[in-house]
Amino acid sequence: MTELSAHQAVNVYFEEAARLIDLEPSMYSVLTTAYREVAVQVPVRLDDGDLMVVRGYRVQHNGARGPYKGGIRYHPTADLDEVRALASLMTWKTALVDVPFGGAKGGIEVDPTKLSSAELQRMTRRFTMAISHVLGVYRDIPAPDVNTNAQVMAWMMDAFSSKAGYSPACVTGKPLDLGGAPGREAATGRGCVYVLEAWADRHGIDLANLRVAVQGFGNVGSWFAAEIIERGAKVVALSDVRGGVFCGSGIDVHMARAHIAAGRPLNELSGAEQITQDELIACACDVLVPAALGQVITDANASTVQARVVLEAANYPVTPGGDKILADRGVEVIPDVLANAGGVTGSYFEWVQNIQQFTWTEQRFNDELKARMVAAFAHTAAAASKYDTSLRRGAFAIGIERVANASKMRGYV
Ligand code: NAD
Repeated sequence: MTELSAHQAVNVYFEEAARLIDLEPSMYSVLTTAYREVAVQVPVRLDDGDLMVVRGYRVQHNGARGPYKGGIRYHPTADLDEVRALASLMTWKTALVDVPFGGAKGGIEVDPTKLSSAELQRMTRRFTMAISHVLGVYRDIPAPDVNTNAQVMAWMMDAFSSKAGYSPACVTGKPLDLGGAPGREAATGRGCVYVLEAWADRHGIDLANLRVAVQGFGNVGSWFAAEIIERGAKVVALSDVRGGVFCGSGIDVHMARAHIAAGRPLNELSGAEQITQDELIACACDVLVPAALGQVITDANASTVQARVVLEAANYPVTPGGDKILADRGVEVIPDVLANAGGVTGSYFEWVQNIQQFTWTEQRFNDELKARMVAAFAHTAAAASKYDTSLRRGAFAIGIERVANASKMRGYV
């Protein structure tokens, strides 16, 4: 099967679920396209005096249920099509976990690993100002994604506030000293664990008996790995952009985090054998957790997956071709819109605290996160049973129904 573009593929998932709920045909064109797409030129003066010009995007897919919400990605593949796909996933995700946001995504087509901190800051400020007319506390609230972090959010907040007045709630995932919420940084990885726990409970499986392989050891992958070993599971494989490692008796995740923090390549971790990305996908494990980029499990490699379940910590890691092969082989997939929704749920908690100017303890944050993720899993599993379908279609069905209803009630369509 020819693989589709990211946006086409997400719309395949949309259409499969829309058919299940008998969505009226007129809603298809509203919900498979974005409300607004902003593409900007971002000129950046480099430290050596040269000028670099990159392209930046903010796509607002649907805002029927609240202000637009979604991360900002710095990556060479973050083109308009990818950002569009990710924005639409945010719409279904925010609706599924029932937070009062719409869906958006942003990105700059750039390799940030080649930039100094000063260059990154100049690029971030320029981009923020270029899209600032569509941002705002009740309009559109960015957050971190691939290759962006709390520092980048601090620069965005400062740039936006220089125009609008002090506005900590204009972005989430900020440093704690600037209105960030204790628990937000870990929320996506932790949320993945809560969802996997709920899945395991449903199947009568003890997490402590599971072998887990994690692709991507950044914010999401490293927090997920650190939390899952607390439940007694074994992390047998890890990888990042430079390669991977495998150890059947379990990798010391804390040692791996310290190794990375010291600037050393993950694939040189001692006590584990080096593996490639393909070998990680195909390794002997029970749970495969893509937590890096999209389109890593496709019709070319899905037949090699040995895991019993794929937990989509990354966005759109499984293509429709790969998804079909996994389903035919009985490998269950816990979809991105559910699995990694702890990130946007945590962002919602941060936004609420900023608006109320009242901070929560990390314990409260985690308790509320767990309750929402467990409820979202239960709703998704119930929808999958009702329609006799996959968790992905069940999750999309819930999201689409809620967004379609809100769009109609507001008189948008
Ligand atoms: P990050 O930049 O912190 O980490 C990305 C990790 O992936 C790094 O370890 C990097 O080395 C690795 N990586 C990059 N290219 C790779 C490749 N080709 N093969 C293997 N590993 C590779 O990003 P993150 O915030 O952890 O995001 C990871 C995924 O989770 C993305 O798909 C993102 O959209 C999704 N996500 C993130 C959040 C969040 O709160 N940060 C929320 C929801 C979903």
